[in-house]
Formats: sequence, structure tokens, C-alpha cells
Amino acid sequence: MAAQETVDHKYVYDFAEGNKELKELLGGKGANLAEMTNLGLPVPPGFTITTEACKAYLATGREPDGLADQIETHLESLERQMGRRLGDPQDPLLVSVRSGAKFSMPGMMETVLNVGLNDRSVVGLSNQAGGNDRFAWDSYRRLIQMFGKTVCEVPGEEFEHALDEAKRAKGTTNDLDLDADDLRGLVDAYKSIFLKHTGRDFPQEPREQLDLAIRAVFESWNAERAVLYRRQERIPADLGTAVNVVTMVFGNLGPDSGTGVAFTRDPGSGAQGIYGDYLANAQGEDVVAGIRNTVPLQELERLDKKSYDELLGIMARLEEHYKDLCDIEFTIERGKLWMLQTRVGKRTAAAAFVIAGQLVDEGLIDLDEALHRVNGAQLAQLMFPRFRLDHEFEPVAKGIGASPGAASGKVVFTSARAVELAAEGESVILVRRETNPDDLNGMIAAQGILTSRGGKTSHAAVVARGMGKTCVSGADDIEVNVPAKRFTVAGQTVTEGDVVSIDGTTGKVYLGEVPVMPSEVVQYFEGSLDPEHVDNALVRAVHRIMSHADAKRQLAVRTNADTGADAARARRFGAEGIGLCRTEHMFLGDRRELVEKLILARTDDERESALAALLPLQRDDFKEIFREMDGLPVTVRLIDPPLHEFLPPLEQLAVNVAVAQERGEDVAKEEALLAAVRRMHEENPMLGLRGVRLGLVIPGLFAMQVRAIAEAAVSVTRDGAVAKPEIMVPLVGAVQELETVRAEAEKIIAEVVGDSGVEVLIGTMIEVPRAALTAGQIAEAAQFFSFGTNDLTQMAWGFSRDDVEGAFFWRYLELGIFGISPFESIDRDGVGRLVRIAAEEGRAARPELKLGVCGEHGGDPDSVHFFHEVGLDYVSCSPFRVPVARLEAGRAAVETDGSDSR
Ligand code: PEP
Ligand code: MG
Repeated sequence: MAAQETVDHKYVYDFAEGNKELKELLGGKGANLAEMTNLGLPVPPGFTITTEACKAYLATGREPDGLADQIETHLESLERQMGRRLGDPQDPLLVSVRSGAKFSMPGMMETVLNVGLNDRSVVGLSNQAGGNDRFAWDSYRRLIQMFGKTVCEVPGEEFEHALDEAKRAKGTTNDLDLDADDLRGLVDAYKSIFLKHTGRDFPQEPREQLDLAIRAVFESWNAERAVLYRRQERIPADLGTAVNVVTMVFGNLGPDSGTGVAFTRDPGSGAQGIYGDYLANAQGEDVVAGIRNTVPLQELERLDKKSYDELLGIMARLEEHYKDLCDIEFTIERGKLWMLQTRVGKRTAAAAFVIAGQLVDEGLIDLDEALHRVNGAQLAQLMFPRFRLDHEFEPVAKGIGASPGAASGKVVFTSARAVELAAEGESVILVRRETNPDDLNGMIAAQGILTSRGGKTSHAAVVARGMGKTCVSGADDIEVNVPAKRFTVAGQTVTEGDVVSIDGTTGKVYLGEVPVMPSEVVQYFEGSLDPEHVDNALVRAVHRIMSHADAKRQLAVRTNADTGADAARARRFGAEGIGLCRTEHMFLGDRRELVEKLILARTDDERESALAALLPLQRDDFKEIFREMDGLPVTVRLIDPPLHEFLPPLEQLAVNVAVAQERGEDVAKEEALLAAVRRMHEENPMLGLRGVRLGLVIPGLFAMQVRAIAEAAVSVTRDGAVAKPEIMVPLVGAVQELETVRAEAEKIIAEVVGDSGVEVLIGTMIEVPRAALTAGQIAEAAQFFSFGTNDLTQMAWGFSRDDVEGAFFWRYLELGIFGISPFESIDRDGVGRLVRIAAEEGRAARPELKLGVCGEHGGDPDSVHFFHEVGLDYVSCSPFRVPVARLEAGRAAVETDGSDSR
């Protein structure tokens, strides 16, 4: 039965049998050649051998049963159609054998042209070409060269060397000076090279040439460069390539022949017009090799008006048919136009938006489709300032592109210096080994942040993304010496005040100033460019598509913000509330002293007085945020990180104390501090005394925060605003933890809120795997869940979120264990499963449970699609990601077929 099926399997499709939907089976090139054939466009006849045949070949090391016969049948039919036989001595049919996978892999796999030429048919070819011997022998030598290299692994340099020799003998450096006799001699030389390396003569039998070329294309799927390319582009390894066997047409038969490429609109800006290049009397490979300069496509109108008009007609037809920008390759053989390839063309981010908008105007697509045609990654690109790289700048180092954008400025090494210089109107780049919460002011003041350590979820990266500030992290070629105020890189020393430029998209670091351009799209989101009045096709297209995304999306989009300024900006960007207000930075700066007092308190009185001093400060923090978010929900998370983060580092303190003791100074206070730091020292602080655990261990700490939140809400409500606070408890793993915090919080809230009308919700983060697995129980005590996917990823994988990305993820990516860091894009199978379980069990226990996500994944396009699928109520992300999340949530809603979001 199985054998019968194999025999019956259809492995070969005539171009007339396929269509553009069959990319998986026929590859992109084959499917589109078929589509053009069926549109009646002038495509050289041919057939496609399927990816199935390739996969079968790669699995077994031999052609599947039936393939050879099917090729024979299709070849015969092609021969009948063309009135010529493959390699016929008098009047040969020649074919090209071209790879073509589902996804374009430019230059990665093989092509063999002129198959069918041999010692006898070369004469026939010359006759066909009107006695053009030179052309015929040149075609033959190209076949031996390409076939030798591709099919038989003969080193390409040997052929090139022989060609150089022939030119030297002729006293020229130009291929075109070689005449028919020279090329005939070159064919002999090539044949000797072939024999030397393969131990056999160049195959004269046309069908054997064809079969070997097909096999070589199959095998090129697993060539090293193709494997690497697939890994990089995240193209699945098991797709296989199709093989297209296409009748040869020649663009090098004289001045009335030529070859070219064209786009139906400008792939750079999206503008309508004619974009392309043409090269007369040449073949496609000459264009690629850059042997002669091409001319703009418009020139063709003068050279060959008939072909030009026909080409423009075809381009218009293709655009209308594909309803998108197409790119094409064509050849003109003695005044006859042939289409060799088309596909939906790649384009820049700006062009993607502009073209989608234009196509809606032209009635070719609707707004749902326009939304599908753009994506969040493109929008994000458009939101960052860019370097104006008019001429080449050489990077001196490369780190992780942690927060996109481009920034230039004077190097500073401390937060204080950053603030000072910024106050003088200077642009500064804050350079640190890694940042910590104390660097916050410097980060705010700086144009960009550069660290030599840390990954995409390091402190620097997360905070910079939150602020929309350019950041390169983990540039480990840079040796930072903060005390000496300098860093060294690539043998050069950069001192404070020197200018550097960093690209947070590519991770590249440049010495000196690279000019920067601001983003018009951000100006639009900020409200300073009115899309109705501005003459800017991009801004208008973005506005239109964003409005449609907002109308369609089911996910609300909130922001992670913990200052009034961030909240205000996020609101302008479309945030519908705050999904995570982290309260840790509120314990820094000049409040540090109070926190020290709190930590060092020996009596209840001391602790209570420290808390009492913090209360009004916290209340003011929250008032500012509630005011900015008037009418929208604000989720405030109770303090999360371990308290020792607010104390000086152990080593530094120990040294200070020892030195002071040596000098006989009074160190009682420092000793107490040192003792406290020692007591709190943890081997794994991420798994230690933090989050809800702190709240349960330090009496009054959470209570103070809850009171501050409730009082702030009541106060702004009395002033006429609407505060909608939601108190969120971090790091809960068991319902009992939440119940304990909740009981105390409810008492305080009831007391503060009274009859003010303020409603305060109490919920929890789900960021410990145990919480996800016991979500049904936890939901009994929570009015909402917010998934902390940063910690959930850290704890589900057991990956330290601050260390692993820089340390060994490169190897995991190389091995394909994952295609992208699970800290960046949600691991659907593992972490995602925990989210699903918690969402389902939480809702089963409490149907009105509100569900959101506030980990970094809330702003990641692919993850947004996942959260849409799971049915969360909202995602929350850094202010600059809010438009991206809005767009992707809209796309997720219209892509009901679950198709790929990238
Ligand atoms: C999380 O863990 O996903 C989260 C949002 O909290 P944080 O990043 O502050 O630990
Ligand atoms: Mg967390």
C-alpha cells in the first residue's frame, strides 16, 4: 500500500498546473511562475519538482520512486511545446535548473544554467543564434563552470583562473574581448579541470546533466551556508527546496536583448513610480556580478519601446493581481519580453505602512488586510531616532541592542555627572559596567546608556526600554573603569567628555558623533503632528492603520510606568491605564536614609517612625500618578526587591569599616549597617526575601504602602479626579500569603476610604510557577491576576534573568534550542502553558477575574498574539511599546485564521 502511494505521488507540476498558494509544495519561485503562467503572462515554459521530492531525496539519499518517469513525461511535454529536444545537436532545447524554497533564501542554494549543451549541441545553439559562435561557446563554458562547481564541487577558483589566463593570453581584462576561438579553447581548459577533479569527462548526455543538476539543487538545501541562513532567519529546517526546470531565454544575444529587475513601487518609501535597473546584452548573473553598470529602467523606453510598454502593463497587472508591491526579474531576448520571476517584494518599515494605506485608497485591499500587512516590529523601528548613516562609520564594539534608537553624546561614568552635564545642555551617554537603581537619575538625564555587562532583561535594558531611551548592554569588548573615568575598546581609550554614538537596534558602538534624526511617528503619537493636516504619507498611513487596530482589538493596552511623566507620555501613546507601577524607585535617592532606618530599626518605635516618615512621600507619589491617569485603572505593586538592594554593597562597606577601625574612628553606626547587610546577604536574592515575603516579615511595610495608595486615591477623588487603584501583591506562591496581606489591607482600605466612593481592588501577580499551578485557589483571594512573565520565565526555566542572556544564550540560539530568548518572546509551550492553566483555573474559580500581563512580554508582538489567544483582558508594557501592543492586538483580532504574526 505504502509503495503504491509513493509510485502514485505527484512530484512534478507543469507551470500551468500550479498557483501562488502552493508555495509550500512548489516553493516561492515555482508557485509564482505558475501564477504568472496562468495569468497568460510571457513565462518561459517549464515545470517544478516539488519540495516533497526534495524531502524524500534528503531522507533516503536517492530520488523517490516515480520521480524520474514524471520528469521524463514533463520534459517530453515541454519539448513538444517548444518544438525542440533537450540538447538536440541541430536545434537544442536548453533549460535552467533553479532552486526555490517556500521562503526566499537569496543566493543560498544552487542554480545551473544552459543545461543541455554539449560538444554537438553547441553548434546547434550557434545556428539558433544566427551563427553567433561566440555566444554559443560562451554559454557552453558557463555551463561547465556552473555545473562543475555546483554539481561536482570543483573549486570555482580553478575556472576563474583559467578565464584570467585566457584573457591574459589575449592581452585584455574584459571578458567581451574573448572571441569564439578563445572561448572554444577555454571550454577545453574547463573540461580538463573537470576531468582532473572528478575523474570523469564532462557529461555529454543532456538527461544526465539534468538529473545531476536536480540532485545538486536538492542537496544544496543542506549546504552549510543554507543551514546557517535558515537558523538566522528562523526558517524551519525541514521544508526542503523545490526545483524549477525552465526553458532558457537569453538576454545576451545582442543589443536588442537584455535583462533587468523592477519594483512596482519604491520599496524604500512606498512612493508610486517606476523603479528598476536594466542591462542591455547581458544575463542576470552579469547584473549580480556588477560587470557593467546598469541603467535606470526608464531608459528601456528609448531602447525598446514595445518591450517597455509591455513590461509596464505587466507590472500594473501583477500589482492588481497580488494586491501588493511586487518585484520582478525579466529578460528580453531579441525584442521578446520574458518574465523570469515575481514575488511580493520586501520593503522598509516606512514603505510597508505607506503602501498598505495606498492599497486601501486604491480599493485593492480593505483595512483589515492593511493591518495584516504591517507589524509591530516595523512600527517600533519607525518610533526610534535613527542615525543618518550617509557615509560608513566603523563600529568599535557590538553589544546587545537592548533598547532601540540612536544616540550620540559625551561619555560620562556616573549618574551625578550625567545630571550635571545634561543640566548644562549637553547630550551624554552614561557608560557603566552595569546599572542599578541608583543610576536612575543619570539614565533619565542621559541620551543613551551603554553597559559592558548584562542582557536584554538587565536593569539597564528594562529601565531604558521603559523610558524609550537608547541602550546597548553587554558590550563586553569594552573595559569600563569608573574610578579612572575611562573605558578602553579595541586598543583605544575613551575618557569622560569624549563623544560616542550607540545604536540600540543593532547594538553597535561608534567613536565620535554620528548625526541623529528624530522620529516623525513619535511626533505624531505625541500629538505634535496632526495627521489630518500634515503632508506626510507615513504619518497619515500610521494614523489610519492604528485607528483601525484600536477599533478591532479585544485586548486593552496598559503601561508599565512609575512616574507621573511616564504615565502622561504613555497616555498620549494610547495607554488605557497602568498595569504595573513598580514602587521600588520610590525608596531611593534622598529617601534612602529613611529606608536604612527602617531596615536597621531595633525597636517597633524606630521602625514605625521610619514608616511614618515614608508614608506622606509615598502618598504624594501616588497622587501624581492617579492624577495623570484620571479615570483609568492604576495597578500599584507593593515593594518587590530584597531590602539589601537599598543598602551599600557588602564588600565596600566591610572595607570602609575596617579602614575606619584602623584609624580609630567611631564606627558604631557603620558596624550596625554592616551587620545588617551581612544578616541580609543571600546567595540567591532573586529566590530570597522579596515581594510578599518581605511584606510578611517586616511589620507595617505593606500596610504603609496600602495606606498611602488609599489616601492618595481619596485625596485626588476629593479634588475632582477619578482614581481607580488596584493593589498588586508580588511573588505570591500560595493563597495563604495573599490572604494574610489582603486581610490587613482590607482593614486599612475600609478605614481610609470610608464613604469617598473610591473602590480599591486587591489582586496578585502570577510570577511563581506554583502560583500558576494553584491559580484556582489563589483566585479565591484575588480580584485580578497580572502575569509577571519575567519572573515566571526565570523560575520556569531556572534561568537567572540578569545573567544568562549574555552568558550562554548564544549557544542555545546556535543549537536551535530556542529561536529567540524566552525573556523576549513568550515560550508558548512552557511558560505559556503556565499562563493558560492559571487563566483557565483562575476564571473557573472566579468568572469576573481580571487578567493581564505586565512582564516585558506584554510589548512583544508575538507574545501579544499569544495573550490574545489565551483571552487575557489586557497587556501592559513600557510606554514606548504601547503603540506596538495596540497594533499587534488589532492584528491578532483580525487574523482569526491564526496565521503567522511576523
Ligand atoms: C515580572 O516578573 O514579570 C515583573 C513584571 O516583575 P519584575 O520585572 O519587576 O520582577
Ligand atoms: Mg517579577
